Amino acid sequence: MSNNKLLILIVEDDNAISNFISAMLTSNNYHVIMTQSGRGAVSNIASHCPDLVLLDLGLPDIDGLEVLKSIRQWTGVPVIVVSARGHEREKVEALDLGADDYVTKPFGTSELLARIRTALRHYNSNKASSQTDSGKRTVGDLEINYEKRMVILKGTEIHLTPIEYKIIVLLSRHMGKVLTHDFIIREVWGPYANERQALRVNMANIRRKLEINPAEPKYIMTEVGVGYRMIDGEIGH
Ligand code: CA
Repeated sequence: MSNNKLLILIVEDDNAISNFISAMLTSNNYHVIMTQSGRGAVSNIASHCPDLVLLDLGLPDIDGLEVLKSIRQWTGVPVIVVSARGHEREKVEALDLGADDYVTKPFGTSELLARIRTALRHYNSNKASSQTDSGKRTVGDLEINYEKRMVILKGTEIHLTPIEYKIIVLLSRHMGKVLTHDFIIREVWGPYANERQALRVNMANIRRKLEINPAEPKYIMTEVGVGYRMIDGEIGH
């Protein structure tokens, strides 16, 4: 057993699924531990300190959302929720409770691996740069320059309203991660705002300015019923 392999905890009560995921992760050089229950999840996270957790929400004892709520009181371990198709409200709740991402069953192998790499990368870069934030982020032809307060596309500055700029900065600081509608609204407009319509309008304007073809966005993806995600170069659609 080598020490530099990352450890992933699979929380899943369906054996067929957990065996499948486990085989896939093992062949991609991860160590894997598995549990079928919510209580098992909490105790394994505490005792093994995994590098990442894949969390099914429908568990036999405690609901996965309760597991998430409970572990978030004491650990920031990256958590990717594994959720059934059509359960948008559950995904939103999981993200608001501190999940890092979600995948929808049935999912492809490469999609899951990409999401795992992204979540691990964010976790590590957040730890490394939480204080010393670098002055800019780039993705593709897009540069967000925090120092100059500018957004530049292919070398040309994009003219943005202050709200549009705040939204782009927020998405870019969480590049690769889905941000829920409520989270974006709270961060941009404040805790008591109810600005869904304004968010939609601003996002449409941002896309018109940023995207060559707003119907097929390259930079900011819509997660239907959940929120928005700025791609980080690896996860595209
Ligand atoms: Ca289940």
